[in-house]
Amino acid sequence: MGQGCVDVYITVHVEEHRKFMNRLHYGHERFFRLLLDDQCPIPLTLLVARVKEEPACPSCDCSLLAEIQSQGVMEVGLHVHPALSRFPYERQRRIISDEWNRMVEGTGIMPKTFSGGHWCINANTLKIVRQLGMVVDASVVPGCGVMAYNGARLRYSDNFTEPYWVSTEQLDAADPASDLLEMPVSIRPRSSIVDLTTTGFWDILDFFSTMARQKRDRHYLHMTFHSYDVLMPDGKMNFFYDKIKYAVDRLNGIFNEVNLRTCWSCYLQMNRERAL
Ligand SMILES: [Zn+2]
Repeated sequence: MGQGCVDVYITVHVEEHRKFMNRLHYGHERFFRLLLDDQCPIPLTLLVARVKEEPACPSCDCSLLAEIQSQGVMEVGLHVHPALSRFPYERQRRIISDEWNRMVEGTGIMPKTFSGGHWCINANTLKIVRQLGMVVDASVVPGCGVMAYNGARLRYSDNFTEPYWVSTEQLDAADPASDLLEMPVSIRPRSSIVDLTTTGFWDILDFFSTMARQKRDRHYLHMTFHSYDVLMPDGKMNFFYDKIKYAVDRLNGIFNEVNLRTCWSCYLQMNRERAL
């Protein structure tokens, strides 16, 4: 009784060391090891902020990230704080380039996918992202109002709820000739992000059922979570990781075909289809 096919993308924000919890670096290491030990049953797009070792931090993520990327299942992309949309072009360019350089120098990875801190980006952000060689942005939350501590505040159009080739002149305009793919986060009714850890499990299942009732041949689902939510402050696992695996099991029960992919593979596929 399955309903069509669903392409599932899960992005994970891996925040800067010690930003929210003083032992966050232990959490990073455990989270990365967990993904490696589990042989990554679910492809995730890890959007990583500040990978380089900090003076007070005893562990460095770089080798683990390189190992994760080399398994070829998951993708390592770039996440940049603070909220960018409030800054003029030049300042944004400096901030994003610095973080890009840190990642490339530290891990050898050339990230393809980007997301902005607090979901706050604008057309200037996209221009810079593209100039640095990244080809996917995963920051847009359709129809949502977002606000950051640095005063950035914006509301996204709800026109786009599926991947689109985005204009670097205007965030909510499609440009078929663009080489930057926008992959909006899936939004539940009343403008809330499908966050795998903070959204109740029954609400997530309800959202899957609502999707299935649309009876489309092909569905797009972009869920997200923060890596620190799957770990306790002491680095121990909590139940969220199992919740994520269970959500994927439920998708297999609802849809005929479930394709778990990274953002980069979505880009490759859409680019191939466009060339035909
Ligand atoms: Zn963040």
